[in-house]
Amino acid sequence: MSDESTIRRLDLACRFLFDGTPAEQVLRAALADDVAASRLSSAFRAYYRLRSLIPLPVRQLLQRYRQVERTTDWYIPRHFERSLAATYMAAGEAGFPTIHPWPDGARFAFVPTHDVETAEGMRRIERLANLEEDLGFRSSWNIVPHKYAVDRGLLRDLQARGFEIGVHGYNHDGKLFTSRALFNNRVPAINTALEEFNAVGFRAPMVHRNLKWMQALDIEYDASCFDIDPYQAMPGGVGSVWPFIVGRFVEMPYTLPQDHTLFIALGERDGNIWNAKLDHVVKLGGMALLITHPDYLDQGPRMDAYRDLLEKARETEGMWHTLPRQTAAWWRERDHLRLHRDPAHMWRIDGPAATRARAATFRIAEGSSNSLPAFEWHDLPTAAPAADSKASAAFA
Ligand SMILES: [Zn+2]
Repeated sequence: MSDESTIRRLDLACRFLFDGTPAEQVLRAALADDVAASRLSSAFRAYYRLRSLIPLPVRQLLQRYRQVERTTDWYIPRHFERSLAATYMAAGEAGFPTIHPWPDGARFAFVPTHDVETAEGMRRIERLANLEEDLGFRSSWNIVPHKYAVDRGLLRDLQARGFEIGVHGYNHDGKLFTSRALFNNRVPAINTALEEFNAVGFRAPMVHRNLKWMQALDIEYDASCFDIDPYQAMPGGVGSVWPFIVGRFVEMPYTLPQDHTLFIALGERDGNIWNAKLDHVVKLGGMALLITHPDYLDQGPRMDAYRDLLEKARETEGMWHTLPRQTAAWWRERDHLRLHRDPAHMWRIDGPAATRARAATFRIAEGSSNSLPAFEWHDLPTAAPAADSKASAAFA
């Protein structure tokens, strides 16, 4: 865990799910670790300088043989969860009350997103969008503004069908965060693309990130962080499977492994890891945010794995299927709510969206062990919102 000075280096107001409880420090420390870790090694800087000269099959071979210590559950942020469990134990509490992360009685959020890497990926959007639509899903498509020809008509058509468009970096050369000057030079073009695409969300290519520099972007949310992903060139991981607020935007970490990692880097032949992580995120009441690429999701078994995952999510009780921009908007609303106990010791939530929210406690599940902690949410009886907050909700 990092010391306080590391998070001070970020020098931005951050707000988390468990603020006001001892667990707040666990989320702060995990973000501080991500801020400290999210740098490219000099080897990777050299790689990105030469990347355009290396043929794609060779790049994929390099990615496949990157040495990562592979445990069977590498996709579960155990270190973070053990810290969370230890914090509860140290506080002598089984759990801490907060406002449940999701509205309207939902238990978890399911947020499919895509990054479109190439012109070929652009051509493959339609098929994937149709598959999602057939199963009752919508998703967001993050488009690179200055790399390939962008089919504006297709983007408008997708938005008319209920899909979302986001911006995926500038030109996807891996250099976006190599210097502050270079980043700042690209900011105006990225902001123009956000406006032209009618987008409010951003994901940096290769999930490189610098949350401080990114404050210059005209966005409502960023989705470049992850809870855990040891296969990324830029290391880190925020542990949290929930959004949080960092400076002027909502950060939405992805929590299911990328298709590229599973099928290309690891050579997986099915979606077992996706399914296992979805189950885990559901238990945590988290946000199952997934990145896939129409570029890689092109073959039968991969499409089958994706379809199976969508069907599994759809059949899981308590799913809030939502677009990232809706998730971020809810997180803002939730952030404006206040939880307190009235004189009769009833839990009460005040604020414009109070009618959608409920009090709940996140607690250690029975039979949980120190090495493999398990958690569960337990709803708390919540008094009806005061009359004035109902009225303001009606006009929100
Ligand atoms: Zn990308």
